[in-house]
Amino acid sequence: MQVYEHEVLVVGSGLAGLRAAREAAEKHDVAVISRVHPVRSHSISAQGGINASLKNHAEGKDDSWEKHAFDTIKGSDYLADQDAAMIMAQDAPACVYEMEHWGTLFSRLPDGKIAQRPFGGAGFPRTCYAADRTGHHLLHTLYEQSVKHQINVYEERLVTNIATDNNLCHGLVALNMITGELEVYAAPVVIVATGGAGQIYSNSTNALINTGSGTATAYRAGAQLEDMEFIQFHPTSLYGTNILISEAARGEGGYLLNKNGERFMKKYTPQAMELGPRDIVARSIQTEIDEGRGFPGDYVHLDLTHLGKEKIMELLPGIRILAMDFAGVDPIHEPIPIQPGQHYTMGGIATNVDGHTRVKGLLAAGEAACVSVHGANRLGGNSLLDTLVFGKRAGREAINYLSKEKPRPDRKVVEGLWEKEESRLKNFLTGEGSEDYRELRDKMKQTLTEKVGIFRQENELKEAVEILADLRRRYPSVKIKNSCRQYNLELINALELEGMLNLAETVALGALGRNESRGSHSRLDFPKRDDEKWLVHTMADYTKEGPKLSDKEVTITKFTPQERKY
Ligand SMILES: Cc1cc2nc3c(=O)[nH]c(=O)nc-3n(C[C@H](O)[C@H](O)[C@H](O)COP(=O)(O)OP(=O)(O)OC[C@H]3O[C@@H](n4cnc5c(N)ncnc54)[C@H](O)[C@@H]3O)c2cc1C
Repeated sequence: MQVYEHEVLVVGSGLAGLRAAREAAEKHDVAVISRVHPVRSHSISAQGGINASLKNHAEGKDDSWEKHAFDTIKGSDYLADQDAAMIMAQDAPACVYEMEHWGTLFSRLPDGKIAQRPFGGAGFPRTCYAADRTGHHLLHTLYEQSVKHQINVYEERLVTNIATDNNLCHGLVALNMITGELEVYAAPVVIVATGGAGQIYSNSTNALINTGSGTATAYRAGAQLEDMEFIQFHPTSLYGTNILISEAARGEGGYLLNKNGERFMKKYTPQAMELGPRDIVARSIQTEIDEGRGFPGDYVHLDLTHLGKEKIMELLPGIRILAMDFAGVDPIHEPIPIQPGQHYTMGGIATNVDGHTRVKGLLAAGEAACVSVHGANRLGGNSLLDTLVFGKRAGREAINYLSKEKPRPDRKVVEGLWEKEESRLKNFLTGEGSEDYRELRDKMKQTLTEKVGIFRQENELKEAVEILADLRRRYPSVKIKNSCRQYNLELINALELEGMLNLAETVALGALGRNESRGSHSRLDFPKRDDEKWLVHTMADYTKEGPKLSDKEVTITKFTPQERKY
């Protein structure tokens, strides 16, 4: 058994993980464990930009961090915790300048200041960007920082479970994907930054590695999950493949047109038009399609042709290439066929504003976590910001926790977990089971997409809950065909499916329980928001028999909930 010991373990090497690691490395021996090389993390694909009230744009002179906080809270349909949203908005300008000083090549205005563009649900052009490859530039900057600070990176390791005992974290067990051996990592602090869980749906903009398996490890280790029913469906993903076409395309002036050539958003958000918040724009597109005004195959058009070649080449070059390569259309000359797709996991591992879960020494940040700043609907450009602001705070909290509590990890607890994981692995490779993981996985994805999608209702949600519980019960009988241990993708997929099923059940059960419509959770049988009963977070505790749900109060400080109008 290979054993490693460190002071802080960060799981995940996207923006949240690398920012947390960079901060904790100021004082401690930090290791990052990731299933891919850091710059292959999904943050690389973020296109449109990152929000901060820099006031650089001519139309943004009156912007402020308070207005950014308000837009975020209103966008969240008042489910965001207001203290957390205020911290994020307040820290945003410093966070963007820090990345700039570390080397991020932001696009510029003619006066040399960082350029900003309008994004949905925001009162001002507030989104800073590097053309339409913002995530790429930010992630490379942080990877350079991790090299500079000599942070240990263990890549191609899949964390399978976290070791906790008496509500204290002791480390984790990871599968070395290359050798197929399980390894022990002992540490008093584990920060989970494993990104979103888009792959539990079948029509996602997320990478294949965004399975949410890391979120599930924290859940099984005793942390709670929060607001899992809030899944963001992005309005514009490419028809067929669901590759993202960034909101920047609408921010730069793109139109949405139905098959009759109508700019239909004037019916739904007459003031904001295409720059309404994502939940509303996604629902509007789906309504056009459902009412027969979409094109055959269920899509509408995103038209950029009127922007002109120069603007598209300068500000949206990546979008153009994606449209040409994956839809065969050049947006300079033709509209892009788009449809809504699963995009973001608003819920996640419940943390306080410093990233700590209720398990001591177990922290979380980024899309895997729920602080909660996005509530029922995230505004575009706020997620990259979330990863950096709360990644940094989690790294700082690791330092504070280690200096205050001086915890000592017990290697035996982690080795005990290793024994259990080893027998789980052997069960897949040589056990008696007969279930095929592909069948279970596909059924889960199809169930969520068809019954827990943009529009939801009780009878379908009940069916989804039953189907998912049945899949959970069948899961221990999974047996894989390939029994070799080295880079066994079947083994990796089968292991990850457990976490996906765990999360899928929390999404469906949470959606069934919430008898109202709020943000991305749109119930046909309960079309109104119900603040009397449902201005609460949904919390989920792990049990072997499925999630146990409860409520938690939303933190309201400055902004009284009101009807959302755009
Ligand atoms: C196509 C696309 C475009 C986007 N554009 C924008 C945008 O313009 N602006 C914006 O604000 N947001 C955008 N978002 C959202 C934003 O990019 C993500 O929310 C954010 O990058 C997530 O970062 P993260 O660090 O939390 O996770 P990720 O970058 O997804 O990193 C997760 C890490 O965890 C590792 N990992 C996962 N599971 C395990 C495991 N079990 N064991 C070990 N390692 C594991 C992975 O290897 C990876 O390193 C976009 C999202 C998508 C999908």
